[in-house]
Amino acid sequence: MANASQQELLRSLPQVEEVLQDPAIAVLQETLPRALVTDCVRDVIDATRKRVLSGAEASVDFDLIVAGVHRAALHLQKPSLRRVINASGVIVHTNLGRSVLAPQAVEAVVDVARNYSTLEYDVAARERGSRHDHCEQLICSLTGAEAAIAVNNNAAAVMMVLSEFAAEHEAIVSRGELVEIGGSFRVPDIMGFSHARMVEVGTTNKTYLSDYANAITPDTALLLKVHPSNYRMVGFTESVSVKELKRLADDENTQRAEGVHDLLVYEDQGSGVFIRLDSFGEYAEPTVAESLQQGCDLVSFSGDKLLGGPQAGIIVGKNHLIDRLKKNPLARVLRLDKMTLAALEATLRLYFDPDEACRAIPTLSMLSVAAEEVRTRAEDLKACLEKVVSLDQATMSIESEISRAGGGALPMCDIDTYVVSLDFKQGSAQACENYLISENSTPIIARIKNDALLFDARTLLNEQEYNEIAEALTSYFEGVK
Ligand SMILES: *Cc1c(COP(=O)(O)O)cnc(C)c1O
Repeated sequence: MANASQQELLRSLPQVEEVLQDPAIAVLQETLPRALVTDCVRDVIDATRKRVLSGAEASVDFDLIVAGVHRAALHLQKPSLRRVINASGVIVHTNLGRSVLAPQAVEAVVDVARNYSTLEYDVAARERGSRHDHCEQLICSLTGAEAAIAVNNNAAAVMMVLSEFAAEHEAIVSRGELVEIGGSFRVPDIMGFSHARMVEVGTTNKTYLSDYANAITPDTALLLKVHPSNYRMVGFTESVSVKELKRLADDENTQRAEGVHDLLVYEDQGSGVFIRLDSFGEYAEPTVAESLQQGCDLVSFSGDKLLGGPQAGIIVGKNHLIDRLKKNPLARVLRLDKMTLAALEATLRLYFDPDEACRAIPTLSMLSVAAEEVRTRAEDLKACLEKVVSLDQATMSIESEISRAGGGALPMCDIDTYVVSLDFKQGSAQACENYLISENSTPIIARIKNDALLFDARTLLNEQEYNEIAEALTSYFEGVK
């Protein structure tokens, strides 16, 4: 219950109509629908009422309410999904949209977005075609697979494989691979959801071939291997290779009667790469082709992690298996749209020349650019910032630091990089970080270390971004004065 003084305050809250008629709010209705502005007014009055009742507000100020409505309305006018500048040093940043597309992929998207397209039209046969055809041959050439299908994302791919091949059957997975990928993608949950009966084998740190062998029954449909994308087990560990699993499955299949489903080996590879990133040495992820050569019947991976394309989940494997997936109703439910297909096809084409792929695909070029080159970029950025930031505002230095691949790839891999580090004499790193994210029209994502604000040059896209960071810092320091 509100006490007497709170009731007094509540009575002084303005009516919605009163606020709408304030000149500062009335003018908003010229560019925004009246219903939207009215919602903003209601929200701000409601929030004020709640603060009064909780004792957080000791007065009701009409001007503050008007200012609050103004802020809320301006916020609505800005697109919610918009570009940010990634100075975090995390290359495949899931919160920031993972991979930036290659220019060729962007062009392909624009072309099919602006025009009608051959999405499901076969021009050679002059008849209805399939959207699955655009990328399949490319994926097969690049991975050595017999067949392929691309769906909405890798989570969808995993779901589809489990539903088609293991629903109401057993699927064996090592306890060391029952992972959570993040964003509520947990292997046990997805198993349950697809009605596969999960059979866990081994222990968290050690699983042997005999663990799998002992668990196989006539009902086992799948040996599932999950690539440990976002973590590594080190120390006293043991896991079973695809090659060994394949041998086990082959033995089992020779004993199975005609007409009984085959035991399959399926690897959820997570990131998926076509080019072995040898510069990462022992940390280099296995390529899709390697997993197939080792004997996987099916492999699935993401389109927008280390592959550097649009969000997609790609499944490769034997013809008869992919055919079954194409006929599964989930293929229709989880299908890709034309813009994603265009981006995926254009990205895949770049891989025919691996050097060109490393140059044109931003994720690959950021991963592979040498630290010394990043240092030069950091120096350019510093020079740009020094033009606008004075020594009594902040001092700057170039520091050696570590970038991350991100997106659950190369988790152990420290990628040497260089950052511009700002030490604040006015304001603070924390306040500036807040300003750059929440107040600047294009959010700028940096990181804080030991009270310094770091801008990692590895994930910046071009010099235009250096200028934008300089402008944002100028505005920040103007506000500090
Ligand atoms: C990232 C990842 C997924 C999920 O892929 P999305 O494309 O994000 O849906 C599934 N499995 C593994 C091992 C992963 O690394």
